[in-house]
Order: sequence, then C-alpha cells, then structure tokens
Amino acid sequence: MKIAVVGGGISGVSTAYLLKKHTKHDIILIEKEKIGGKALSEKRDGYLIETGPNGFLSNKEEIKKLITESGFDSEVIESRDESNRKFIFSNGRLWEIPKNPAKIMFNGFLSSKAKLKILKEPFIKPVFRDETVEGFVKRRLGQEFLDKIIGPMVCGVFAGDPKIMSMESNFPRIKEIERRYGSLIKGLIGMMKEKRAGANSISGGFSSKLLSFKNGVGSFIKHLSKSIEIVKDEVLSIETINGKQRLLGRLNHYTADIVIFSLPAYSLKKIIENYNREFAAHLNNIPYAPMAVLALGFESSKLPEITNSFGYLFDLNEIEDTIGVLFDSSIFGGRAKAGKTLIRIMVGGQLAKESPFKSNLITLAMKELNRSANIHYPFEFAYKKVHHKAIPVYTLNHKKVKEELLEFERKHRGIFITGNAFFGISLNDCVKTAYNTLEKIKSGL
Ligand SMILES: Cc1cc2nc3c(=O)[nH]c(=O)nc-3n(C[C@H](O)[C@H](O)[C@H](O)COP(=O)(O)OP(=O)(O)OC[C@H]3O[C@@H](n4cnc5c(N)ncnc54)[C@H](O)[C@@H]3O)c2cc1C
Repeated sequence: MKIAVVGGGISGVSTAYLLKKHTKHDIILIEKEKIGGKALSEKRDGYLIETGPNGFLSNKEEIKKLITESGFDSEVIESRDESNRKFIFSNGRLWEIPKNPAKIMFNGFLSSKAKLKILKEPFIKPVFRDETVEGFVKRRLGQEFLDKIIGPMVCGVFAGDPKIMSMESNFPRIKEIERRYGSLIKGLIGMMKEKRAGANSISGGFSSKLLSFKNGVGSFIKHLSKSIEIVKDEVLSIETINGKQRLLGRLNHYTADIVIFSLPAYSLKKIIENYNREFAAHLNNIPYAPMAVLALGFESSKLPEITNSFGYLFDLNEIEDTIGVLFDSSIFGGRAKAGKTLIRIMVGGQLAKESPFKSNLITLAMKELNRSANIHYPFEFAYKKVHHKAIPVYTLNHKKVKEELLEFERKHRGIFITGNAFFGISLNDCVKTAYNTLEKIKSGL
C-alpha cells in the first residue's frame, strides 16, 4: 500500500518514520517548506538557536522510546543543574519559584488575602463540567494565584489566554485530581502518600529534568527524516476516486491508499474545504496564538548573575510584549560560544497579539530585559523569527472538535489526522499521536 504523510513537523516526520520502520508500506512525506516545521535549530555566528521548542521532560515516555528506537540516544543532553532556578517577574522584581510548593506561602510573594484563599481551597466543592482555566483557578485558588502563578505558566508555555482555554483539554490531570480528591491540596497530599507507598498514581513524575539534543531539537527531526522519501510541495486539495486518495499539490499530484494529515488546523481547513465543509468549519474554531522568538547573544562577563538560571515568566499584570525569557545557554551546553550567553525572548501569545508584528521588536526586547532583569549591556548578536500562527489554543470547544475529527476519520476511510492542533501541543504529545496512528494503521482501522 502507498501512504502519503502531509506535513514535515515532528508530528508528520515521526509518523512517517514509524510507518516506514514497522510496516511494509510505501511511504512518502510531502512538506511545503522545511523539515522540522515549528522546531528548527539554526547555527549562526557560534550560537545554536531554537526557533521553537528547546526540549522535553525526562518523564515523557513516547519521545524517549522514539529516540532509542531510531538510535539517537547518544545525542541527548540534560539541562544543567543551575537551570533548576526559575523566576516570575511580579511587582517590579524577580521572585524565585521555590522547589517546595509549600514555601510559596512564606516568601512574601503572595498577599495575606491570597494565602487565606489558598487555605480555604480544600473546602471548595469540585465542579465536574469543563470550565476555562481562569474560571477554575479563580474559583479554587483566587485571582492573585491566577495572575502570579498559573497565568504566567499558561501564557508563557502555551502562549494562551486563561480566559478562553479549556481546563479539561489543556490540564486533564489537574481536573482529574479535583474529581478524584475533591480538592487540589488534598490531592497533592494524597498523591505524595501514594508515591511513598509505591502506588501507581496520577502524579506521574514529580522530579523530571528537561532534555534536548546536542545540536538542537531540529537535529532529531532531521535524523528521523533521513530514512523517508520526502517531496517538497504544497498540498492544495484532496479527492477520493475509486477508494484511492488523490492529493493535488502546487507542483504535482499524488495518489495513495492512505493519507495522513499532520498539519496546522488552518492548513488542513484549506485542503478539505471542498471535501468535507462541515469538518472544515470546525477547524476554523481553533484559534492560534502568534509569537516572535528573539535570540540575543551577549558577552557573559557583563551580565547579571540571574542569567545563570533557567529564565523567567511574567505576572499577568506585568505583561507588555514579552511572555517569557529563557537563558538558553545556561539551560543547555553548546548553545553559545565560549564566554558568550544566549538569551531567548518570547514575544506575543494571545495576551499580546499585536506585539510579534511590531517593527522595533529587538529594541522592545532590550527594554524588557533592562526593566525585568537589569540587562543593559549591548548585545553582539541578534536573531528574530516570527510565527504568525505559533501555537493552537484549546478552548471549551476543543472536545467537540476532537469528536468531529473521529467522525471524519470514520466517514472517510483511509484518511487520518494528527498534529499539535488536536492531541496535545508538546513534542511528546506529537510523538505519542504518531505511535497511536501507527497502531490504527497496523490494526486496519
Ligand atoms: C516558540 C515555540 C516554543 C515551543 N516550545 C516547546 C517546548 O519547549 N517543548 C515542547 O514540547 N513543545 C514546545 N512547543 C510546541 C511544539 O514545538 C509544537 O507543538 C510542535 O513542534 C508542532 O509540531 P507539528 O508537526 O504538529 O506541527 P508543525 O511543526 O507546525 O508542522 C506542520 C508542517 O506542515 C507543513 N505544511 C503546512 N501546510 C502544508 C501543506 N498545505 N502542504 C504541505 N506541507 C504543509 C508546514 O510547513 C510544517 O512544516 C513550542 C512551540 C513554539 C512555536
């Protein structure tokens, strides 16, 4: 059988790799731009810059399995110990996030009112339906906890807006804790007890490390792609003729028995608009957050001590243009030449939608570094990548979109859909979906 995978990001490449390795089918991958999609690693002037993700957590099993089975273990690197320190910029200064969550009650970060609200958390009734992240956090832990702790994370990691993000689609395990224990605090205590007793709890791994690759995340995707036949073309539409799938590309057309779309929702929508109008309309309901990634290189000796840490996020009340600052060369080795420091500044997300498109981005980034971390020494290197549609945002509508996706796959036998728009945005989620797709195809679903 012939299988065409459309889209050469981590989702498409890992799917094509696994199919090639574990089946006898004939596989081609069609990519319109560069293999790697959002996850490119570029070497410039002695710096290694990630245009997107910089790593994955060590407790994520599927990506580790794929690394091992593709023979890439020797390229894996661990984050440095100093990158254990993470901060939040709030009330005009940086606050270290304590390793022990209970310490947040004693370091002056939260007001007495916020602490009182936290202490009342075990007595708040659980809500079993889905709700927004903002609704959930305000209800259980209060506005200040949202602004200073959960908001910065949701905004900095997911580039999202807590006002519209779904709790169940983004944080199913936290919602599960509420359901199972009736409270997050009771849940944390319960899970620690279960862990001590060696039970299989939903806590997963508390102490995971960030991992990456010597030559960046993009090097892993390139490695996987080496065994796959790749065609550079943009797929424009699909039709099914006598049980075969026919893809019309800008340069050519392709016939296959099975097609796997591993595309952003907005690209998939265009392709299937005349094929299944109803599902295409659902795809339109997935919003995307824009983001600019700026990478600045500095002389290390001139920088403040804070740059020897992981980086920091922003209290929601402090967000102007920037949502996160990462000290990349302190997190992983090999990101900057000797004596230099590489800092990545994430601008935009849903709370600062206009910011990635401002003309003076580098000046804005320097102003931000100055305001929040007292970094004012001139940079010696600058790089900018603007993602017009960086990350899909899972809203309260997301569950419905996934149901419609399964309905689409049932109706159109031979077409499968993967990608970060549906089953999780992390690298590991994308790889996990690739393994699931392999199983579906092997079992003839
Ligand atoms: C700035 C940023 C930082 C991130 N940080 C992290 C992190 O630290 N850790 C983590 O786990 N995740 C992180 N993520 C998320 C993660 O990187 C993405 O979810 C993941 O890379 C998406 O992979 P994908 O293959 O699903 O989609 P994409 O990477 O978007 O790939 C889709 C591909 O399809 C191609 N394409 C589109 N239309 C067509 C067409 N018509 N025909 C042919 N090809 C087409 C595109 O060119 C692209 O290559 C980050 C994301 C961003 C943007």
